[in-house]
Amino acid sequence: MLTQHHIEILLCSLGECFSPRAMSAITYANIHQDRLAGQFGHDEFHFDNNAFDKSYAYMEEQRALTISSLHKKDALSAWSAFGRMLHTAQDFYAHSNYVTLWLSHFDGQTHPAPPEIDPVDPGLLHSPDLRSGKVYYPFELLYFVRSLRRYVLPFIPRDSHAWMNLDSPEQGFKFDYAMQAAMKKSRIEFDKTVSSLSQESVKLFTG
Ligand SMILES: [Zn+2]
Repeated sequence: MLTQHHIEILLCSLGECFSPRAMSAITYANIHQDRLAGQFGHDEFHFDNNAFDKSYAYMEEQRALTISSLHKKDALSAWSAFGRMLHTAQDFYAHSNYVTLWLSHFDGQTHPAPPEIDPVDPGLLHSPDLRSGKVYYPFELLYFVRSLRRYVLPFIPRDSHAWMNLDSPEQGFKFDYAMQAAMKKSRIEFDKTVSSLSQESVKLFTG
């Protein structure tokens, strides 16, 4: 997802849960995952290249770091780890075909509105048809240059990030479903993380 959409998802889903200071640390860590060095060799940051197991493991590693940092009273490290975890959680809906599979339940009918999407349908999360976009270098780099996009796209396979992504509204109506799913999932991850914390740690975490 593009930076501004990660920010929008965070503010809409968790803006009321955190102090402005906590929110800005979480947001900084979240969007920093898309830095150039975070794009290469880090499929687990973004659910790219069908790295589902690695991405789930990365999320749990960052959740554990969030909790252990709070035990050490290190709120900044906790916010950073939580922001990194949410980046991965949010990218799942933009980089996989989850939204397409969910919408296919309604083939031949009117699609439900985007806020109706279930972000954790167990049948879809474990579906053999679930895929995420492969990153084909160097074509994928050229895809990011907007003026070259239409020239390189025909040379990139259909199972690529370039074709599959729901990173921005330009990708069509499914983008709104990816946004809503990412907002709901962010809230689910917040509730899950907080459920294992003492009242004192929750206070420190929420700032
Ligand atoms: Zn990303």
